[in-house]
Amino acid sequence: MGKITCLGGCQEVGGSGFLVSANNRNILLDYGIYLRRKNPFPITVAPRDIDAIFLTHAHLDHSGALPLMYITGNPPIYATKITMEVLRVLLEDYLKISEAILPFDEGEIASIRENFVKTSYGDIINVGEDFNVTIIDAGHIPGSYMALIEVNGKRILYTGDINLRDTLLVKGAKPDLPEIDYLIMESTYALTNHPPREELERDFINAVNEVVEKGGVVLIPAFALSRSQEVLCILEKYNFENQVILDGMARDISRIFLRHPKYFRDFKLLKDAHSGIEYIERRKTREIAIKNSGVIIAPAGMLSGGAALYYARQLADDERHGIFIVGYQLPGTPGRVLLETGKLPVNGGLLDVQAQVKYFDFSAHAGRQELMEFIKSIRGSPTIIPIHGEPESCKYLAEYASKELGLNTLLPAAGDVIEI
Ligand SMILES: [Zn+2]
Repeated sequence: MGKITCLGGCQEVGGSGFLVSANNRNILLDYGIYLRRKNPFPITVAPRDIDAIFLTHAHLDHSGALPLMYITGNPPIYATKITMEVLRVLLEDYLKISEAILPFDEGEIASIRENFVKTSYGDIINVGEDFNVTIIDAGHIPGSYMALIEVNGKRILYTGDINLRDTLLVKGAKPDLPEIDYLIMESTYALTNHPPREELERDFINAVNEVVEKGGVVLIPAFALSRSQEVLCILEKYNFENQVILDGMARDISRIFLRHPKYFRDFKLLKDAHSGIEYIERRKTREIAIKNSGVIIAPAGMLSGGAALYYARQLADDERHGIFIVGYQLPGTPGRVLLETGKLPVNGGLLDVQAQVKYFDFSAHAGRQELMEFIKSIRGSPTIIPIHGEPESCKYLAEYASKELGLNTLLPAAGDVIEI
């Protein structure tokens, strides 16, 4: 007998965490934070009970709570090299901006690194005698993986975040999978089909050029990890020649990316994309940066703070400028409010935005069609467990799997235990 305990990330994006237990062993799959909650942590588990941690990728909704496991414990943590390097940057930044509320500090972040076990795609990791975990490329961001867990003759596939289509940074996932018994899968975009990528790239570059030709500045609020670099690659691919500025934590992530060629689909493109850009190192230079027409890429991706918010406020009142949103916006975030109302929440009020606001769906997640095809492609008769999505999204996938494919489905809430 075994079980899966759902710690978080159920019918919600954020706080991903799943504990798989069998034969007195426990492995933890991801342990992220909720980005919009006062208490950001998923359900707690005792670190001493954890035999191994598998971290699919470094985004904080999958990794931000990991330091909690190192306050009193030291479980081995399996991740790719690039994931571990960017994780440190992300966690240190998270610590800096939320120190007051966090029960951990640099010591725990260092401890994660001390217990890091480097893994690569194709590796099969044994935990005790009973667990085999296979590391499979997830196509989401450089170094991201899905975990295939075999225990007691059952196979559980935990997708983490997946993308099945190519982006400029990484190739889409094309896993060759055995029969699966339980599919724990992300559902972020279960209600949305993404537009064809090339067409989207061209629309984006045309919109950027239009603003720049009028002498305006395009602000692109983007996640520091991966989306910022994807946008840089698009600008390079289409020979964008005006000023390009990279601000905030994205600089540090780019420096790490440039040291790890093997994780990229086209490393030359990535390198060229970084060759002509300017890095903003100090606040003072931000004032100068917005005086020249061009593109500024800056986190936070949902405009919840950081350099992006600074620039957005400076650019808001001039219609020559543009604010182009390029990623998922959680409900209630300033970026989502801006898209829905054309106004930017600032200091408790709403700022009228004259600058052009546009949305480009440069997602690194599988869209509705791909998610459905992925379920269909799975051999065996898996129980489908949609997670990591707003409730309607998870429900949609569950209904598709049960009505169209006749599969068993589960829609767990945080705290639920699934017997396997
Ligand atoms: Zn992710």
